[in-house]
Amino acid sequence: MKSYTPDFHIQTAENLKAALVLLGSTKVKWKPIAGGTDLMVLFEAGKLPQGHYLNIWGLKELKGIKETSTEIEIGALTTYSEILENVLIQKEFSLLCEAARLTGAVAIQNRGTLGGNIVNASPAADSPPALLVYETEVELVSTKGSRWITYSDFHKAYKKMEIRSDELLTRIRIKRNTQGTQQYYRKVGTRKAQAISKVCIAALAKNNAGTISKFRLAFGSVAATPLRCVKTEQVIEGQKLTPALIDKCIVELSKEISPIDDIRSNKVYRALVAANLLRDFLGHL
Ligand SMILES: Cc1cc2nc3c(=O)[nH]c(=O)nc-3n(C[C@H](O)[C@H](O)[C@H](O)COP(=O)(O)OP(=O)(O)OC[C@H]3O[C@@H](n4cnc5c(N)ncnc54)[C@H](O)[C@@H]3O)c2cc1C
Repeated sequence: MKSYTPDFHIQTAENLKAALVLLGSTKVKWKPIAGGTDLMVLFEAGKLPQGHYLNIWGLKELKGIKETSTEIEIGALTTYSEILENVLIQKEFSLLCEAARLTGAVAIQNRGTLGGNIVNASPAADSPPALLVYETEVELVSTKGSRWITYSDFHKAYKKMEIRSDELLTRIRIKRNTQGTQQYYRKVGTRKAQAISKVCIAALAKNNAGTISKFRLAFGSVAATPLRCVKTEQVIEGQKLTPALIDKCIVELSKEISPIDDIRSNKVYRALVAANLLRDFLGHL
């Protein structure tokens, strides 16, 4: 059943400062709405809680992609289409580009934002594994100030995050240290577009004449949150890549992930696919 529109109060914030003042208000609890591609689905289904929604879509302070010689900074309101068009992201951060290309279809890519994807905190979302592999940092801002946290500390448990209700996620920062790495992103879903992942993998490795000097690995849809697989990384990093090591790595992965049965897939299939994808990447290094 659809939601009843008069039960919702929506206000547009003119600038970041005004938005933060409203979010910090003790009288009314405001919830940000960016592209609305997650929230409007809930609204249509009658599952969006009634209340006060703060439209942040127009905030210039949260838009745009900036580059320096050492890092790239992506505004939280950056859409997937903007990510796809960015030459630096195409060249150095192909995992993020692939995640954007495989998110929804063009309409969603034009409206959905990277910040919204992060804060919506679906374990099946497609960008988080890429962001985890790049050891991204995110900025959280309130009237009390700004704090940068490592993205791997953001997701605490299913839909539980390190963000207060008076804070906005404003920027996403990634170090430009992918030179000489091989990057691998795969999304397994029911269709090529408009499909929620059954499993998705993002991985990055540096192979120095057979020794893997750097290895980063993350998955979507195999745990209650997007998951960086640090223990599996440790099996490989600094080692000579051999078939026996790959087998060891697959065993470690099976201990680190905890997929579930749901309407999209089941835990046995998800575990098998995750292992196969990792084996595929390692086999091509
Ligand atoms: C048809 C369809 C297909 C989709 N396909 C995919 C897919 O393939 N892969 C995928 O990962 N997702 C998919 N999605 C989900 C959605 O499009 C993404 O998660 C998108 O990135 C959400 O961004 P948004 O700006 O629209 O978020 P909104 O709906 O505006 O907000 C989502 C949540 O984030 C919060 N929020 C948003 N911005 C901020 C901010 N800056 N600071 C603090 N809180 C904030 C909101 O309060 C809300 O809780 C799909 C959705 C639809 C409708």
